[in-house]
Amino acid sequence: MSFEESIVEALGELEAAGLLRRPRRVSSAQGPIVDLDGRAVVSLCSNNYLGLADDPRLVDAAMRALATEGLGAGASRLISGTMRSHVVAEERLARFVATERALLFSTGYAANVGTLQALAGPGDVVFSDELNHASLIDGCRLSRAEVHVYRHADVDHLRALFAQHRARARRALVATDALFSMDGDAAPIAALREICDAYDAALVVDEAHALGVVGPRGTGACAGAGVRPDVLVGTLGKAFGVSGAFVAASAAIVALIENRARSYVFSTAMPPALAAAIACATDLVEQADDRRATLLRHAARLRAGLRDLGYDVLDGTSPIVPLLVGDPTATMRLSAVLLQRGVFAHGIRPPTVPEGTSRIRMTTMATHADAHIDLALEAFAAIAAEAA
Ligand SMILES: *Cc1c(COP(=O)(O)O)cnc(C)c1O
Repeated sequence: MSFEESIVEALGELEAAGLLRRPRRVSSAQGPIVDLDGRAVVSLCSNNYLGLADDPRLVDAAMRALATEGLGAGASRLISGTMRSHVVAEERLARFVATERALLFSTGYAANVGTLQALAGPGDVVFSDELNHASLIDGCRLSRAEVHVYRHADVDHLRALFAQHRARARRALVATDALFSMDGDAAPIAALREICDAYDAALVVDEAHALGVVGPRGTGACAGAGVRPDVLVGTLGKAFGVSGAFVAASAAIVALIENRARSYVFSTAMPPALAAAIACATDLVEQADDRRATLLRHAARLRAGLRDLGYDVLDGTSPIVPLLVGDPTATMRLSAVLLQRGVFAHGIRPPTVPEGTSRIRMTTMATHADAHIDLALEAFAAIAAEAA
C-alpha cells in the first residue's frame, strides 16, 4: 500500500465509524444568527458568549492599530521585539485578573502546551483532571514530567495520588479546566487550592470558558471562588470575541514561561491589531454584567426546556448545554435534522469526548433573543414528537 493509499484508508475508517469531520461554510459574522450555505440559522455552537466577536468597538480598535502598527508582527517577540499594543493588552489583562504579569500567546492551545512544558519537566509531577482540554493533555505530554490523571473533579482521588507521588518529585502542579468545555461543569477549585497548599504544589487553571462569563466583572471561576491560582490561562477567542490567549501569574513565573515555552519562543507574535482589540475587549467584558445575566438566563431556559421535552441534558449552570446522545452517527443525524429546522447545533464525538458520550453541545450567547431559544426548543419538540 502506498502512503497516499494508507491515508485514504484511514479516512475511510473515520467515515465508517461516523467520525469524519467536515466543517460547514459560514458566510456571515459569528452572531446569534449565521448564514450557512445561504440560509439564516440560529447558531448554538459558538463560544462567542457575550456576542463581542463582531462588536464594532472591537473592530474599530483593531483598525486603529492596523493603521499605525500594520498587520504582521514580523517574528517572535524575543526576536523582532514587543510592540506597543502587546504591552498595553498585557498590562490591561494583568490588571483584570489582578496578577503581576500577563503574557499573550497566539492561541489557547499554544498557551497551555507552552505553559506546562515550561513549568514542568523530568523529575516533576503533574496531576491532571481526566476531562481536561486536549491542550492541557498535550502540554502534560510535552513536559515529559510524570503525569497522573485523576478522576473527574474527584479530590479524594487527587489526594491519594499526591500522598503516593508527591514526595519523590521536585515540582508538583495540578492542571484543570475551570469550566469543563464539553460538560459545562465547574472544577472544585477551592478544594484543589487547599490540596496544592498542603503539598507545596502549583495550581494551573485554564479559564477558557469561565473568563468573561463567571466571577465578579467576569474575572473568572477562580475569582468567583475566592481562590488565587498560581497560573491562570485565559483564552481570548471565546467570551472576549477576539483570538489568542494569555497566561497570568507572578512576574517570576511569567518570565520563565517567556524564556522556555517553545510555543511562545518559536512562534511569530500575535498581530498587534488583535492585541489592541483584546485591550478594548477587556474593558467591554468588565462592563458586561447585563450581558452575562442574559447569557445565563438563555442557557437556563434552553436546559429546562430540553429537560421538559425528555432529552438527557447534563446538569449545570454554565452557558454550555450538552445533550447526550451516545452514538456518534445518531448524534450527527440529530445535528443534521436540527439544521434542516434552522438550528445550527454541532455534534461532538470522540476523541473530543469519551466513547459512548457523543452529544449535541450547545452554547448560548448574550445576543440571542428569546425568540431564538424558542425556535430551538420548537425544533427539538418537533423532532421528539416525530420519534415518539
Ligand atoms: C478553546 C479551549 C482552549 C484552546 O483555546 P484556543 O484559543 O481556541 O486555541 C484551551 N482550553 C480550553 C478549556 C478550551 O475550551
